[in-house]
Amino acid sequence: MNIRLAPLSPSWRTRFALALACLCYYLTGWLGQTLFSLQPANITLIWLPSGIALIMLLNWGMRALPWICLGSFMLNVKGMMMEGALLPSLSHTAIAALIDALAPALALRLLQGFLPLGVHNANDLIKFVVLAGVLPISLSSLLLAWNLVLGHYIPGSALPGMVKMLFLADILGILLMYQIYVGWQEPHALRIAQLRHIILPGVGLSLFALLGLGLQAGWLFYLLPPLLIVLAFEVSRFYLGIFSSLAMLFMILATAHGLGPFIHLTQEETNTEMMAFVLSSALTIFGVSLQRAQLRRTEQDKQTAEKEASYDPLSGLLNRRAFMPQLARLAGQARPYCVAMLDIDNFKSINDTHGHRVGDRVIQTLAQIIHNHCRSQDITARIGGEEFALVLIDISPADALPVLERIRSTLANMSIVAEQQTLYCTLSIGWAESAPTLDGDTLLHHADLALYQAKAAGKNCIVKFAG
Ligand code: GH3
Ligand code: MG
Ligand code: MG
Repeated sequence: MNIRLAPLSPSWRTRFALALACLCYYLTGWLGQTLFSLQPANITLIWLPSGIALIMLLNWGMRALPWICLGSFMLNVKGMMMEGALLPSLSHTAIAALIDALAPALALRLLQGFLPLGVHNANDLIKFVVLAGVLPISLSSLLLAWNLVLGHYIPGSALPGMVKMLFLADILGILLMYQIYVGWQEPHALRIAQLRHIILPGVGLSLFALLGLGLQAGWLFYLLPPLLIVLAFEVSRFYLGIFSSLAMLFMILATAHGLGPFIHLTQEETNTEMMAFVLSSALTIFGVSLQRAQLRRTEQDKQTAEKEASYDPLSGLLNRRAFMPQLARLAGQARPYCVAMLDIDNFKSINDTHGHRVGDRVIQTLAQIIHNHCRSQDITARIGGEEFALVLIDISPADALPVLERIRSTLANMSIVAEQQTLYCTLSIGWAESAPTLDGDTLLHHADLALYQAKAAGKNCIVKFAG
């Protein structure tokens, strides 16, 4: 059965997406409060909503602010409700919601001002951490903790500890979520070839972590970051973001349940040590993944530059510069080959009558015909305006001629439609066969002489160079 949904208008689509993001904000916050918080202080060790709020603002701009306030309010209202003090409780929850929206808004402004292109290189990382994390989160942590003191939720003496935990939990949330977001924006399709790269570390990481717990070998946790660094070279940033987040969440979860290597006598020490480890690991992995992405970009740029330097953009065939060395290399090999020069007949008048764009289409059409008639070992190039070279390799002259004839007749019999015009055109071919004593330059010259004869013989024909 086919269910057809009416297309949503863009504004509805945006609102729907924002509502979903708000739900995500709520659920990850709820997860944090449920799984990753330590009793009795109820300190949440990781606050993923801080990262989700930043992503919401990066994606939808200030329109996301009310949704962030809503998400934060819903998350905090239950925990902040004091018996017999409905109005003060609601006010302090609302203030907390405003502060939760203020921090990512400030982060967005700072990023727009000082890191407008986002985090691309490893040296952007510190800037990002300061602009999106340290500056806005110090402010919001201080305000949030103050709000809790003013509302008599915590004593004044607990303020510094609360600021510290809010700060660490929020920054960790930003680091992990932002990494996933940046990875999501890149091509991240999971190809089969990459599946083993994901399953092996996935299974390996989980086994490692579980062994660490099961065998009381908490020190195994320390090997998780190097494993994730190896993973950074195997998978796209999106999957790395997911895996490192899961690994960090696992470590926090274990610690919150009194397991793992970070357990100390006091909860304060436990939290600080675990958060320091998790944060430094997250930062290192993020930095490595950025470096890896930078390397990949450099490699891609190099390949693009090499391709652009070798190929003619109009025809997609090799250009003269790249063709000549390839032809020269053949002379040293004991393989029979034929060199042909192909030149469109009366091309100047085609340009004059139909226009340059139609002329370009004719060039592209002939390039396609030549390409279609060649085998993978042959060399095809556009070596001049409407001149092409074709080197047929491992072929006898008796077999080369029919190939050239098919190219000639295909173009001659084809009606080319371009720019609402239909035209016919022909080409002339001159060619020469290889001989052990002749180099590529000489053969090309021979083919050119034969082409000249083909033109003199009335065009639309093929002439073989004869001594
Ligand atoms: P012949 O039959 O003797 O080969 O004559 P022709 O008119 O084809 O040869 P000629 O060398 O006189 O003209 C070649 C023309 O090709 C002149 C030039 O303007 C045109 N040309 C060169 N490069 C391009 C191109 O990239 N696109 C188009 N549309 N025209 C080009
Ligand atoms: Mg011509
Ligand atoms: Mg010409």
